[in-house]
Amino acid sequence: MMNRRRLVGTGAAAAGAALLARIPRAFAAPYDLIIRNGRVIDPSVGLDAMRDVAIAGGRIAAVEANIAGDAAETIDARGKIVAPGLIDIHTHAGRSKEGPPMLVQDGVTGWVDAGSGGADNIDQIAAVARGAPQIGRALVNISRGGVVSPGGELHDLNLANVALAQGAIARNRDVVVGVKARLSNNVAGANDLEALRRAQEAAAPFNLPVMIHVGQNYSPLRAYLALLKRGDIVTHMYAPGMNGILDDKGILHPEVMAARRRGVFFDFGNDVNDHFDWDTVEKATKQGLWPDTFSTDWSPQSKTTGVVDFPNVMSKLIMFGMPVAQAIACATVNAARVFPSFDDRGTLNVGAPADVAILELRDGTFEFLDNYKGTRTGKQRLFPAETLLAGKHVKHA
Ligand SMILES: [Zn+2]
Repeated sequence: MMNRRRLVGTGAAAAGAALLARIPRAFAAPYDLIIRNGRVIDPSVGLDAMRDVAIAGGRIAAVEANIAGDAAETIDARGKIVAPGLIDIHTHAGRSKEGPPMLVQDGVTGWVDAGSGGADNIDQIAAVARGAPQIGRALVNISRGGVVSPGGELHDLNLANVALAQGAIARNRDVVVGVKARLSNNVAGANDLEALRRAQEAAAPFNLPVMIHVGQNYSPLRAYLALLKRGDIVTHMYAPGMNGILDDKGILHPEVMAARRRGVFFDFGNDVNDHFDWDTVEKATKQGLWPDTFSTDWSPQSKTTGVVDFPNVMSKLIMFGMPVAQAIACATVNAARVFPSFDDRGTLNVGAPADVAILELRDGTFEFLDNYKGTRTGKQRLFPAETLLAGKHVKHA
């Protein structure tokens, strides 16, 4: 029994399946776990259908209708959505070791800490990431002390030290996957463009992306976009006010779509203050600007703010008409494409690590909150139901 499991888990799944086919039925308990009867939505392969998902050795072993055979554990996902584990590319989960297990409860099986730490404190963030139950990565803040709020870490440009940031990346290559620059007026003021140039300079020798936090900017957004390369990320994309994505008349600046066309990613970035309002979401989505990725900007307080949990944030765009499968794509395969560390995630492909989010899409009346105490009422809400991490069932609180 153990031997067979190891074969399935460590070899190519197809070879394992062929081997299993020759094993007498009496011995056949080839899978560790089967999730039965769920609506499997795996945008990485364009799948949205009733399927069973079998797991062996911590990896996806089969995704088929009515999988025959036994498993040590069965989950009945009738009435639920079975999706790849969710990936949240803008969190502050690296600030404490208690954070990452909390995210697992929300279906989040991969996260990026976006700039909590700079050169002076990234090593602590990286240690949390290495000890996390799920895959965790970090962006190093171009400002050496990381996020400072209130006050803002880029009002003193001496803190944005390229050599120190590069040293921080070099000694944490396993965890640091990019550079973060918070450019909003309250963080950077008139230093915004120079800070972004330094972030790019720090990232360049490592070929890493830069994530910029925008909103109420000192300089026009198009000046930022001009400094972004393919693969860079704009978070808080729907931030209202000065120098955002919309002009005075509510028209999307043409440079925004032009940036997307050349491969810049646009990320939602919920959090609590100043990062989005319903009016901007409505105007931008009507003009075709939808998020590439969702993120919560998570902290341990998020449970009690308008974030609540990652599926709640996804539900906000579903309310504006994003199809559920597209919302899951943004939260899984799209996020995995932003950072190569997640190459093997965000998918239920056979052979991939069995990180799975089981979600419930409930119909009803649900109130959602923006960052300005604005509420909108939606008719559907995704809830986290169960999470599997490397094939292991994580019991929900
Ligand atoms: Zn943040």
